[in-house]
Amino acid sequence: MTDFAATKALFHLPEGMIYLDGNSLGPLPLSAPDRVARTLAAEWGEMLITGWNKAGWMAQPTEMGDRVGRLVGAEPGHVVLGDTLSIKVFQALAAALEMRPGRKVILSDSGNFPSDLYMAEGLIAALKQGHELRVVAPEAVAEAIDGDVAVMMITEVDYRTGRRHDMAALTRRAHQAGALAIWDLAHSAGAFPVDVAEGMADFAVGCTYKYINGGPGAPAFIYVAPRHSGTVNPALSGWLGHEAPFAFDPSYRPGPGIERMRVGTPPVLGLAALDAALDIWDSVDMDALRARSLELTDRFIAGVEAACPTLRLATPRDHALRGSQVSFHFADGYAAMQALIARGVIGDFRAPDIMRFGFTPLYIDLDDVDRAVAIIAEVIGKGLWNRPEYKTRARVT
Ligand SMILES: *Cc1c(COP(=O)(O)O)cnc(C)c1O
Repeated sequence: MTDFAATKALFHLPEGMIYLDGNSLGPLPLSAPDRVARTLAAEWGEMLITGWNKAGWMAQPTEMGDRVGRLVGAEPGHVVLGDTLSIKVFQALAAALEMRPGRKVILSDSGNFPSDLYMAEGLIAALKQGHELRVVAPEAVAEAIDGDVAVMMITEVDYRTGRRHDMAALTRRAHQAGALAIWDLAHSAGAFPVDVAEGMADFAVGCTYKYINGGPGAPAFIYVAPRHSGTVNPALSGWLGHEAPFAFDPSYRPGPGIERMRVGTPPVLGLAALDAALDIWDSVDMDALRARSLELTDRFIAGVEAACPTLRLATPRDHALRGSQVSFHFADGYAAMQALIARGVIGDFRAPDIMRFGFTPLYIDLDDVDRAVAIIAEVIGKGLWNRPEYKTRARVT
């Protein structure tokens, strides 16, 4: 079992703030400043170029990849860190399409995050082989899998509603139709136990700055199933994915297994901050995390629904269909969220009308839920959001 009061004490949470946005950017682990300072002063400062070997920088993308891999059920040695999630989506998709040369359809759903769809559009344009991006409603994915589909590219948890797909069932269906499955775990990794091995995912990708708390711009991860990792073509054939980067061979040969999904120089400063976050994750029981997450989201839903009849739940009530966030539809959701933020309840807004709140057991407890519900009840009940200063949209919502 995990002691969540103890994990809460390992994060910096600003005084007076109830932080329900860890699904977008996790908070600072208290050990991260010293961990990063060590890399800056003792490693970069003192070791300079020798840090690649002496401080182990070059091995960190796979070593830390395995620690992230435990959170998503990956076999050891099959996850690597680097780049951003959008890049990793592109890489997985390019590799998958090449494995199904006769098929032209990329299947996704309208609840996917736009960047994943944009990357698919860009790849299709670059390949010029007549591929098509087929986007269907989230409930219609299973029926849309047919013999034309090369790859099904799905984000497991919808970033707006928090609805969760059944990874194992959809993947089985895709495989029966001869298609491959790419799972985006942006809102799954660190949110609940995931099992990419048992779910038979062909590829999985995700980021480490949301639930994993690796810090703004922390590196993304990619998983390639062991049955494919020795044969896939990585598409983004950078020198650090080469079989022998320091042979400086003029032509590319893919490295062994997951190593080939590396592209360029590892983001060492970002990895240092992520290392501090993973020190916390290393001892977290993921089943206990899930139980606590459902307890938090159930309590929040019940509290808000009782106090605010004008807010309409967008998140499934069924536990099996829920990630670790709760969203409500509210026509004036943008202004309402600004009014909440002004009172220390930090969630976010997603167009057109979604108020979104993330629940992260490592540092959010039942008392935080109750206090947030009380503030939401007051802001909505008294119409405190109805002021001009809450209605001007900022660049990041
Ligand atoms: C957060 C998120 C992204 C963001 O991609 P970056 O390249 O890290 O900016 C992409 N896809 C999904 C599904 C996300 O939730």
